[in-house]
Amino acid sequence: MTPETPYWNQKIETMPREGLEEIQTRMLRDLVDRAYRESSFYRDLYRKAGVTPGDIRTLDDVRHLPFVDKSSAREAYPMGMLMVPIDRVREVHSATTPSRQMLPVYATGKDLEEWGERCARILWMTGLRRGDIIQNAFRFGLSTGGFGFHYGAMAAGMISVPASIGSTDRQIDLILDLGTTGITMMPSYAFYLGMRAHERGIDLARQSNLKVGLFGAEPTSVRMKERLGELLGLTAFGEYGMNEFLGPGMACQCLVERGMHAWADHFLLECIDPETGQPVPEGEQGELVWTWLSAEATAVIRYRSHDISRITWERCLCGRTHPRVRRIVGRTDGALSVGGYIIYPSKIQDVVHMFPEFGPFHVLIDSSRGLDCMTVRVEVKDGVRVPSRDLASRLRTAIRSYMTVTPLIEVMAPGTLAMGEGSACRILDYRRGSGRYGSSD
Ligand SMILES: [Zn+2]
Repeated sequence: MTPETPYWNQKIETMPREGLEEIQTRMLRDLVDRAYRESSFYRDLYRKAGVTPGDIRTLDDVRHLPFVDKSSAREAYPMGMLMVPIDRVREVHSATTPSRQMLPVYATGKDLEEWGERCARILWMTGLRRGDIIQNAFRFGLSTGGFGFHYGAMAAGMISVPASIGSTDRQIDLILDLGTTGITMMPSYAFYLGMRAHERGIDLARQSNLKVGLFGAEPTSVRMKERLGELLGLTAFGEYGMNEFLGPGMACQCLVERGMHAWADHFLLECIDPETGQPVPEGEQGELVWTWLSAEATAVIRYRSHDISRITWERCLCGRTHPRVRRIVGRTDGALSVGGYIIYPSKIQDVVHMFPEFGPFHVLIDSSRGLDCMTVRVEVKDGVRVPSRDLASRLRTAIRSYMTVTPLIEVMAPGTLAMGEGSACRILDYRRGSGRYGSSD
């Protein structure tokens, strides 16, 4: 910790690439060795693939290891990825799969301490300092958004206000009355909050002490960040994290704002051709694959994020040497981010098809006053006599219970929806920068 510099951890943040890769090589060997010994899931996976820890000597050798993703990781439920005795675990979080099964993430005391340190680096990188008041409107619960920045703020000597999402008028009062200087939340919620303040005659850009906003979990384009900056009177930064890795604390923009620095002393980041699984040349577009090198409790090795982006290692003007993840331009699995939740159109299709009364359908995603809104417009089949209102209510309940989001449902007469050739489902995304995740550049 060197508070007199722009870095929270100068030695690590500015370490030359060779030094970082030396650390990564050592950590990778140790991780694969531990996962093979302690995790039943990885032992089986690697035995089937005919690979042993002894095969991993260099960073490039990571390519011998099979990939893991949300679907294959389901087999590890509940403790197949655990590498320590359960009594060493201090906190459990969880990601979810498309089928809503939980993917538990276990953390030891060391994991939690390092999570806080990674988030402290991020808060510091955006210009926040000791004594700054961080109002954290990410969810607190099994998902990891809230706790990460809470631990980060405490590690950095800042003041954490765990406001969580919702209760917007109270959020606005807290910003004004406490003199909040930094906020962390989804960008759509930040728009909503700024507009709600205007409805109350409050101009947060003029009347608050806000100076930094950290935005993640859904698309954040350059234009959105500019608008948020004007609306709330702050500098907006994009950050990246996945529940599977105790994100946030994985990658964030610096003041140069050209991509997000990903902490290489904790994560090995690969960019692959999603079709062949082979690495693409540095700087070229591909799918991001993450390995959690420093994890003590949970083994997450060669995990396919399905996020499409580019990675560059060139030195940044901010002095940090860690690789930068550029703008996330889409997903390889067709998933959409709606209000911070990852939604799979194929899953909506599965739910709609559970009802024999329904035919083809459209999914419309719009953003009203900054908040994402999903509407399922579905044709009823000829001869169905159940009242539309009852059908809509049943479908809404089913989608909510399978997918967490609550859509609006519009039941249409047979043959009224325009469909593509041979298609039973159309996605119509009317949001600005639709289908785009992550941050600028
Ligand atoms: Zn930088």
